[in-house]
Amino acid sequence: MRLRRMLAIWAAKITEKVSVHIFHRQGVTWAGKIALKICPSILKELAGQVKNDIFIVCGTNGKTTTNNMLCAAIEAEGYKVICNHTGSNMLNGVVAAFALGAGLGGNLKADYACIEIDEASTRRVFPHFKPDYMVLTNLFRDQLDRYGEIDITMNILKEVMQSAPAMKVIVNGDDALSAYLAMDSGNPYVTYGISEKVLDDKDSHEIREGRFCKCCGAPLHYNFYHYSQLGDYACTGCDFKRPEILFDGSEIEVGDQLAFTVEGRRIRANYKGFYNIYNILAAYTAVRSGGIPVEHFNDMLAKFNPENGRMEQFCIKDTKIVLNLAKNPAGFNQNISAVMQDETLKDIIIVINDNAQDGTDVSWLWDVDFDRFKEANVGSITVSGIRCHDMGLRMKYVDIPSMLEADVEKAICERVENGCGNLYVLVNYTALFSTRNVLKRLEENR
Ligand SMILES: [Zn+2]
Repeated sequence: MRLRRMLAIWAAKITEKVSVHIFHRQGVTWAGKIALKICPSILKELAGQVKNDIFIVCGTNGKTTTNNMLCAAIEAEGYKVICNHTGSNMLNGVVAAFALGAGLGGNLKADYACIEIDEASTRRVFPHFKPDYMVLTNLFRDQLDRYGEIDITMNILKEVMQSAPAMKVIVNGDDALSAYLAMDSGNPYVTYGISEKVLDDKDSHEIREGRFCKCCGAPLHYNFYHYSQLGDYACTGCDFKRPEILFDGSEIEVGDQLAFTVEGRRIRANYKGFYNIYNILAAYTAVRSGGIPVEHFNDMLAKFNPENGRMEQFCIKDTKIVLNLAKNPAGFNQNISAVMQDETLKDIIIVINDNAQDGTDVSWLWDVDFDRFKEANVGSITVSGIRCHDMGLRMKYVDIPSMLEADVEKAICERVENGCGNLYVLVNYTALFSTRNVLKRLEENR
């Protein structure tokens, strides 16, 4: 058994070494695929060697940031953690995280594992191991799922939760869909959320999922919304309501920096975006639920760089650039809010591709409140990527002038030369890696 596992680990490491620089995430996926082919029980065996607990992170938005932050928080307390940092979150990516983290002798030396898993892939991963904790960030409509896909996702998650009845669910209590799922599963659960009203966006045009009670079908009544469908809700027809929040973020500060208090501790982070408070709160709740100390939590946040295009910063010829992924309407609306918190003059480039993973249907762009850019002190907007024409049309519709440059590199160089020195690049999923590579290259060659 061990020999086979060793072979699989070696093969995975070699595959990763030779392919990851050329094919990026694809290389990691191949490494996992090959390892699993050589040793079908590798994931089960290696997961079984994790000394303490295995955390998984699921949910539509915030998986990668929350998972990497959770990993960093546990590492900051002196533990060794296995983590799929790159966000390869399907079965092969999960296998790769364990195989690449194992030693050449075929064994894993890790205290914890933090693994983000694509919701639909949980069904393929759970037969290999049962996690101790599942962090559930939120359930939004993704750009692909226009027709009832949230219900399909919820059914899958309920099924896997029930297949691991001892697994504790760490759930965003402000999301009626996630909270319902945790309560309905019968699994033990811990809630986090924000009980104070921070900014009520009751009047926003945002699409809100789960406006109807999953128990009885009656409309939910909201005291306030934080954003999208997150807020303080109660059913008008039955007893279902926002659960009691165990880890409650209060005294929220949202601006150039983020700060909030939980359990009497002031938590600070040097980046933007209200949604990041949820990511931090989720990681904090997971760490505390696992009985791990949080002595170095703030130190961890001070050093934490949300990589991989999540508010990632670059500097090219004195132009400050922030790259941010937005893969669905909820994510995009949050990105717009984050951009608006920067009140100084700014240029914006929006890159929209429609490769297979994005879905070729870009009609979700019509569910994003782009008209809010009117109030955001925007110097210019450039639309780019394969579907730049659709994006240009969308801007035209809200009466915002935009420049069109299909080539991302040209668009960025043009703004670096002629822009105001403060540039936001908002990209959808398959545009992320190519755009990030362009930025990295330009930054190194400056
Ligand atoms: Zn109800």
